[in-house]
This record gives sequence, C-alpha cells and structure tokens, in this order.
Amino acid sequence: MKHILPPLPYSYDALEPHIDERTMEIHYTKHHQAYVDKLNQALEKYPDLGAWPLEELLRSTESVPETIRSAVRNHGGGHFNHSLFWPSMAPSGKGGGREAQGVLGGVITKAFGSFASFREKFTSTALGVFGSGWAWLVVNAAGTLEIISTPNQDSPVSSGLKPILGLDIWEHAYYLKYQNRRAEHIEAWWNIVNWEEVGKRYGA
Ligand code: MN
Repeated sequence: MKHILPPLPYSYDALEPHIDERTMEIHYTKHHQAYVDKLNQALEKYPDLGAWPLEELLRSTESVPETIRSAVRNHGGGHFNHSLFWPSMAPSGKGGGREAQGVLGGVITKAFGSFASFREKFTSTALGVFGSGWAWLVVNAAGTLEIISTPNQDSPVSSGLKPILGLDIWEHAYYLKYQNRRAEHIEAWWNIVNWEEVGKRYGA
C-alpha cells in the first residue's frame, strides 16, 4: 500500500488573501508531495510496515527499524501533519474564521478562560517556536485540551496526544507572502480556521 497525497478540499486561491495561491500550490504539490514520496521510499524495503495506517506508524515509532525510523518520523510526520492541516482551514465566510461553537467552544472556554485567551496563548506558542515546527491544539490522555508546539515534523500522535488543530510555522508556509513577518501570518490564519472541522475532530 502506497501512501498518497489526499485531495485538497479547496482551490489553491481559496484562502486568499490570507494564504496566497502560489504558496498554497507549492506547499501542497511540492512540500507535502515530497513527504509522501520520501515516506513511501523509506517503507519500500519493509512491505509489512507499508500496510500500517500512518497514524499507527507514528504512534509506535519504536517498532520501526532504526534504519528508517527518522525518515518515518520526519516524512511520515510531515504527511500526517499536512493531511490534518489542509481541512483545518476554509475560506473566510465559507466556514473559516469564526470562533469555535458548540461543545468545542464550551470546552475551550473552560480550559483557557475565554476564546480570546485561548487565541492569545496559541498565538504566543506559535510565535515562540524556534526554527521550523508546528503549534497545536491537542486532546491529552485525560481528555483535556492543551496547546503545545513540536519541532520539525514531529507529530503530537507520537506522544500519545490527539491533535485537533495545527498551524504550520515552517517558513515554507508563509515566506513568499509574509517573509520574516510570522506574526502577520498567524494573525491572518485566524481568519480561515475551519472550526466546524476542528469541532468534529474533538467529538470523534
Ligand atoms: Mn508545511
């Protein structure tokens, strides 16, 4: 079984002006595709592992042979993280950008005091990542929400956490439009968060 690039749930220009068309196209067709290809390459010699669902591979990296362990962690993580990332966004006005509603909205308020203070904490976590990585909203083993960051393409699932929202803060995610202005990229991203999708993940 080969891992494949999942379809993008919107067109390359759908998230303009917050994420520009060119960045979206390169990010999806080059960066994400490369994680998929390199993961498949690493698994070629291990057909048994090839049949494992990606999430299982990332959850049990200790069962992956050492020769391909970091490839699975980096490229498998990259594939998993980006597959979660794309549907976490929707065009403003078409589901993107409002506050979390319903059950998730209530749980966020309970965990962080208010939606505004959740947003502030997530933003400062994303701003504080040194180098390349991700900011995440995760559900921990106790069922509680947490905001964390991971370096590189490390995925929260490898630490037994369930990610429900992630923000890519590698420069490839924003450099063409925002250059070094990571804070502007993060501010813009809040306009396109697909809370309906994130809420479904929380409920699942
Ligand atoms: Mn990326």
